[in-house]
Amino acid sequence: MSEKVLKKLIIVGGGFAGLRALYRLRDYDYHFEITVIDRNDYSQEKPALPEVAVEGKEPAEVRIELPPVMRRHDAAFVQAAVERIDPEARKIHLDTGESLSYDYLILAPGAVKDYDAIPGFREYGYSICDDEQALRLHERLERFEGGRIVLGTARSQFGHRVKAPELSAPCEGPIGELAFMLDHRLKKEGKREKSSFEIFSPSKIFFEDVGERAREPVAKLMEERGMKIHTGKILAEIGEREVRFEDGTTLPSDLTIVIPPYRAPEFIARSGLGDEKGWVPTDETMRHLDHPEIYAAGDVNALAQPKLGHIAIHQADIAVSAILRAEGLAEEIVPYHPEVFCIMNMGGAEATLIFSDALYGGEHDLAWHSLLAKLMKTGFDEEYHYTHGHMPPDRMVEVTEEILKHFSKEKSSEK
Ligand SMILES: Cc1cc2nc3c(=O)[nH]c(=O)nc-3n(C[C@H](O)[C@H](O)[C@H](O)COP(=O)(O)OP(=O)(O)OC[C@H]3O[C@@H](n4cnc5c(N)ncnc54)[C@H](O)[C@@H]3O)c2cc1C
Repeated sequence: MSEKVLKKLIIVGGGFAGLRALYRLRDYDYHFEITVIDRNDYSQEKPALPEVAVEGKEPAEVRIELPPVMRRHDAAFVQAAVERIDPEARKIHLDTGESLSYDYLILAPGAVKDYDAIPGFREYGYSICDDEQALRLHERLERFEGGRIVLGTARSQFGHRVKAPELSAPCEGPIGELAFMLDHRLKKEGKREKSSFEIFSPSKIFFEDVGERAREPVAKLMEERGMKIHTGKILAEIGEREVRFEDGTTLPSDLTIVIPPYRAPEFIARSGLGDEKGWVPTDETMRHLDHPEIYAAGDVNALAQPKLGHIAIHQADIAVSAILRAEGLAEEIVPYHPEVFCIMNMGGAEATLIFSDALYGGEHDLAWHSLLAKLMKTGFDEEYHYTHGHMPPDRMVEVTEEILKHFSKEKSSEK
């Protein structure tokens, strides 16, 4: 009896979206020969990077080693960078000179954080978007005696081939999180009195991706802690003692921490797979607009706004369900309903859970500052790490969302 020939499915990127796609496919059944390609042999848990920077967590504690995960899930792992994709020949060319062919491709390489696009960043700026930068900031904080702290997000640019919310700051959560965590640390060290916080955003509104009922409580918490917000500020340059903006204004600074511009990985444009800014245009089943065997999930997808792990996971679920459907293995494609769901660590026992679908015309919008939110944050991060990138069970997430929706309705009827 001849063995069934399995279709070849390649996932580029072993981050939030890539791991979720692998786990979802393996949850379902063994219908594909799966290969995961990542330039690193680990997956970086970005939501825990502020803890590396501020609380001295070890970088090894915020990494998931990819080769054992792949062995356990019967997937091949190739550690290499994708250089180019030839969609007509269905081939992926790697920087090792090797090339791989596919029947289905899921693109999940995330976004490039373009530190070098900011003049002065390498000399005077700090960030937290990878563990190298988080460690650099940690070392700087160990020597910091208090002073003027400026935090903010540089402007990113997106195309218009798909209809997605227009955000110039695709992920401002880590800036708020870092400000609160630093405030907590400086208080503990007795340096808060000698320090000030100025927060800038390129958008007209800080945290524009959530609705007002989520944004206002966070703004209030910031105000109570003496943090000042400057909106409509497009970062031009970081100097030794100041931050300069495109409108000619400056903010004096002893410590400047930024989220750099997000850029799509270059191989997307090189392969003719990007929109006018290089992001991957897909329909709401995460299928490429021009290449039906290519799917994209996570930060690289032009639809993904804001660029959040929660949305990356949702898109991976959709891409997998669409591939299963295309193979006649599933009845339904998961509908696209992006939401903001994240928990902002505030240091100590504090955290604020933010849940909002207001940006997408929804009705739920909540910021929940509580001890339980801190417990949820710690629980989620630990679960993600120790289960090697698994999310909590679906039913648990559904029930949590139901409770949050109920809670958000109650809060709005109180007003
Ligand atoms: C500091 C920080 C804190 C955050 N906190 C939160 C949070 O609390 N909650 C939340 O929901 N979201 C958070 N986010 C956003 C979240 O981390 C991202 O949205 C998420 O990681 C996107 O997942 P992804 O799979 O698209 O990309 P990633 O997780 O970035 O994974 C992409 C993978 O692709 C690989 N890759 C890239 N290019 C290539 C190539 N050419 N060849 C081979 N491999 C390649 C990379 O090595 C990487 O492993 C945070 C982001 C940052 C920066």
